[in-house]
Amino acid sequence: MHAMLLRLPRTELESTTLRDPRPQRGQLLVKVGACGVCRTDLHVIDGELSDPRLPIIPGHEIVGTVVEVGAGVDAFNVGDRVGVPWLGFTCGTCAYCKTGRENLCDSARFTGYTIDGGYAEYTVADNRYCLRMPSGRSDVELAPWLCAGLIGYRALRMAGDAKRLGIYGFGAAAHIVAQVAHYQGREIFAFTRPGDDAGQRFARELGATWVGGSDEAPPAPLDAALVFAPVGSLVPKALRDIAKGGTVVCAGIHMSDIPQFPYALLWGERHVRSVANLTRRDGVEFIEIAQKAAIRTRVTAFPLSAANDALRALRDGALTGAAVLTTAVVE
Ligand SMILES: [Zn+2]
Ligand SMILES: [Zn+2]
Repeated sequence: MHAMLLRLPRTELESTTLRDPRPQRGQLLVKVGACGVCRTDLHVIDGELSDPRLPIIPGHEIVGTVVEVGAGVDAFNVGDRVGVPWLGFTCGTCAYCKTGRENLCDSARFTGYTIDGGYAEYTVADNRYCLRMPSGRSDVELAPWLCAGLIGYRALRMAGDAKRLGIYGFGAAAHIVAQVAHYQGREIFAFTRPGDDAGQRFARELGATWVGGSDEAPPAPLDAALVFAPVGSLVPKALRDIAKGGTVVCAGIHMSDIPQFPYALLWGERHVRSVANLTRRDGVEFIEIAQKAAIRTRVTAFPLSAANDALRALRDGALTGAAVLTTAVVE
């Protein structure tokens, strides 16, 4: 099969031909239709996350079709449409797994980081972590649901019932979570890079009541803030923007250092927290609400062989919405 392989951090992915993977017990062999390009892929490639398996096929927003099932698989059949997310394995026995927090499992494995991912024509995945994907949308359109959507949704849940919601960084995750939040009747305050007119127009199209640069103050205090941009200085900024009792949720896996800030910004029972990974329950819940909210994703499709171009576009902030690699012909 054709695959894009990371051999060493801080190098380009290598376009290569590998032996097709074979499904082991409990695994599905999936013909990849589309795989989203996530900022986490950049962190893996840039060596910002510890201990990736190398070489590795990146990609953890996989949508495809089951072409073979391993022994012992009952939940899926050949021909099913599935999604393969970031969470690829958990131990089931640690304290986190036993208390509904498998996202924090000490022995978790992650797609495209410690398990080969979806920048390839085929992948294998443990069927217990695969998600059933709805019909009526293309693989390319669905791919960003698998991480941008899921992690965004988990971050939104951590905001509780916040009515006035700030979103910092308006990329792939934000453009989905804004639609869910709008569907839930929340008010959205979108912060982009200063001067990013296209990003601000995009946020307004998706229902934001207010848009501005990340250097601007919102017109009134917010109830919660979701920080998607990997920029540590946004944390004290968001604390400044929220009301007493509000929460700042950091949704990325990696962020630049958070600068020192006065305790007064945290005072008033404000919270700062991160969101790590996802649980299978998040996946099922998100897919349900995404259908009810009639989520439409804005994607730029790239052929699989152009993965390095897609990563570059993401790094340069040149995309509106999400980048997706596809094995189908790109129009
Ligand atoms: Zn565990
Ligand atoms: Zn991701």
